[in-house]
Amino acid sequence: MKEIFEKITDRCLCGSREKYANCCKGKINPNGNESIHKEFMAELDTRRRNYRKICLHPKGDECSEIKSHAHSISQKAVLDLIAEHGNVLMPVVYGITNEFQMKPMGIESKATKLYCFCSKHDGIFCDIDKRSVHINEYSFFLYAYRSFAATYYKVIRELDCFAKLNQKYDCNFNPYAILMNVQIQNSMPALEWNKKKFDDSILTNKYDCLENICLTLHYKVYFAVSTCFNLMFDIFGNRINHSEYDLRMVYISVIPQEQQTLIIFSWFKEDDALYGFLKEQLEIVPTRYVLKYLNNLIPLNCENMTVGPVLWNNWSADAQNEFLELGSGHLINENVKNNSYSYFEKRAFNLFEHIST
Ligand SMILES: [Zn+2]
Ligand SMILES: [Zn+2]
Repeated sequence: MKEIFEKITDRCLCGSREKYANCCKGKINPNGNESIHKEFMAELDTRRRNYRKICLHPKGDECSEIKSHAHSISQKAVLDLIAEHGNVLMPVVYGITNEFQMKPMGIESKATKLYCFCSKHDGIFCDIDKRSVHINEYSFFLYAYRSFAATYYKVIRELDCFAKLNQKYDCNFNPYAILMNVQIQNSMPALEWNKKKFDDSILTNKYDCLENICLTLHYKVYFAVSTCFNLMFDIFGNRINHSEYDLRMVYISVIPQEQQTLIIFSWFKEDDALYGFLKEQLEIVPTRYVLKYLNNLIPLNCENMTVGPVLWNNWSADAQNEFLELGSGHLINENVKNNSYSYFEKRAFNLFEHIST
């Protein structure tokens, strides 16, 4: 027994299955001192920013040479509507500690874009890249697929950045980073399963794999979202159970238009057993109740959202801080997402504020 215990504890935490002495021992301690830590974080951010350009489209052999840089939220159709002097605010997560800030960014700047399609295949989104989108099965599919692609790209980028940094640094000193990395690795098969569902639809030109619900608000909101995640609580606060490392995701888009706003929920029909009740809930619950729920749900999963300065500046300092706290709280402490009250608390900020300009 003692021998087995020693064998396990011998192993390096980085996941290599090697003995620590033969693996990370002797590499730089990223927390060694303040300047090394800063260097480590700067290197991580640079690696994220300069991550390679890819195309996720399943017809990889038909890709164009040019890898385009698209927004995961359409610039023409959406960002231009909420920007002020060409700027929007985006949550930016810094370093391994996941420090979180709202950063003003030019919508033309590279920083707001992701390189996950070639210029040819980015064209599949043209139906939702225009004003007054025609809502049908295909456009619902495109909204969901775009949020998936952004998520997928960020996940493989994180894995790659971690692997690169781990060659130089001893991440045993940073158990949080290791834990995150192991969790991501373990979720990869589930993520690939989702990718295959989208790929199959594109390859067979059949887009009926999703269940979709669209709510319309008769005014324009000043933020946009394109996101996907495992939904933990339904609209009534009932817990939804997921198997460990499984990714049965709900795809949520909030799309402001000139005179109205679309709120789209989608999930794979195969996951109806898990989410089918949502359809009924969304039909019977008053819209203001759905908005209250989303007002908490979105910041808890805000990796891909954009806020218009008009809305942000309309909030009090308290409201802004509360939003940031909720947004970063869940990154630091998973439990925030696991408590139903996180989803129903009254907040000082209201994403869905009706602003007349
Ligand atoms: Zn190691
Ligand atoms: Zn391509």
